[in-house]
Amino acid sequence: MRYVSTRGGAPAVGFVDAVLGGLAPDGGLYVPQEWPSFTREEIAGFAGRPYAEVAAAVLGKFAGDELTADEALEMCAEAYASFTHAAVVPLTQVSPSVFLAELFHGPSLAFKDVAMQLLARLYDTLLSRQNRTQTILCATSGDTGGAAVEALRGRHNVKIVALFPEGRISEVQRRFMTTATEANVACVSIQGDFDDCQALVKQAFQDPALRQAVDLSGVNSINFARIVAQATYYFTTAVALGAPDREVSYVVPSGNFGDAFAGYVAKRMGLPIARIVAATNANDILARAFEEGRYARGKITPTQSPAMDIQAASNFERLYFECVRRDAVETARAFAAFNETGVIDVPPQALAAMRELFGGCMVSEAETARTMVSTLNETGELIDPHTAVGVAGLRRMGKTKGPVVVMSTAHPAKFPETVKAVTGVAPPLPRGAEDLAHRPEKYDRLPPEAAAVNAYVREFSAA
Ligand SMILES: *Cc1c(COP(=O)(O)O)cnc(C)c1O
Repeated sequence: MRYVSTRGGAPAVGFVDAVLGGLAPDGGLYVPQEWPSFTREEIAGFAGRPYAEVAAAVLGKFAGDELTADEALEMCAEAYASFTHAAVVPLTQVSPSVFLAELFHGPSLAFKDVAMQLLARLYDTLLSRQNRTQTILCATSGDTGGAAVEALRGRHNVKIVALFPEGRISEVQRRFMTTATEANVACVSIQGDFDDCQALVKQAFQDPALRQAVDLSGVNSINFARIVAQATYYFTTAVALGAPDREVSYVVPSGNFGDAFAGYVAKRMGLPIARIVAATNANDILARAFEEGRYARGKITPTQSPAMDIQAASNFERLYFECVRRDAVETARAFAAFNETGVIDVPPQALAAMRELFGGCMVSEAETARTMVSTLNETGELIDPHTAVGVAGLRRMGKTKGPVVVMSTAHPAKFPETVKAVTGVAPPLPRGAEDLAHRPEKYDRLPPEAAAVNAYVREFSAA
């Protein structure tokens, strides 16, 4: 399987190079040269199989001969053994035809674990083949750092330095990072805000001597392996609800569009998905793109669902490339222009192609809160604010034949302050995480200065 850049200016590479490279050298995103697919019988055969086996089958299609079937299965089995539910991604019914797919049973209680747990094992395996050790530097506003630290702690060929803004993330979010005791993890509280943290990461990557010295890498959200890992739960949930004999639709609380795009991938692989609604909070760049055909960056507004406070949905570039019939010259033009002007007017034919599968829906803060309350009253389920954006997005689904699955992307205990304030109920931490508040924390503090951070990264990597 070969991977090409959405901007057409980089050579095609194999699976290993696409995973370890992350972003293509021309600034585009990697996509497979052609979409692999399953037969109807293969999809039907997923029914009742363990999650890790389905994940390995999906991964195998994308890795081709660069991973053996045994390697793929071992990685998936290990990755999903870290989840506390035997089904890994269980379904909960909330109305006659609506189900929640609980993506939050991983170690950091948010959906990022599904991909990050697998990505960490892929990195370790692929780097050890090449006798390489990388240092991953990431800035986090909350969820990504916790999922990355949980996935990478104790890995042999990867070290991680996570920068977070002092006092600006929740205690639960901080503790998922700072209570890791393994020597390959370093957490740093930066005396600044999230933008400072992101700028520091950028500056570290722009220091060629540092990059060379520590083989610097990122766990960026555009890595195609993350999409591959996320396609799996579309298969397991759809098959549990009657696919391939029945069409299934999805509502996906969206920020960077990775989760929802994985549904497009599953559909291209043969899964009968009728419709996908991308639900956003007030940061509604995606909702506006699908509704108005104008992909235009706005100002970031802080909301109750902070993991979706994003105004440029990086994976949208992959869908754009697909919907302009893989015209890389057009994609490169559009996204270079977006960098300058912050706007892309989606060509009418491409917009029509997008709308065959996708719809968009913006959900206000008041509606999010009302949905948390009504879901609790009607079903007894306590949902987190991100999931509530998805449930509220159901109104944009229209008439569909089959069942609808809403992606439930975080455990309510990940956002205890908001859930308690809105519903009056304090969500208890789940099994395995109850003692989080009592585990000792370990982190360093640094001023928001590139020189200090770069020296820290260099010293930590050498240790
Ligand atoms: C990251 C995240 C999302 C958004 O997913 P994308 O793939 O970025 O669209 C939604 N909910 C939670 C809890 C998240 O952590």
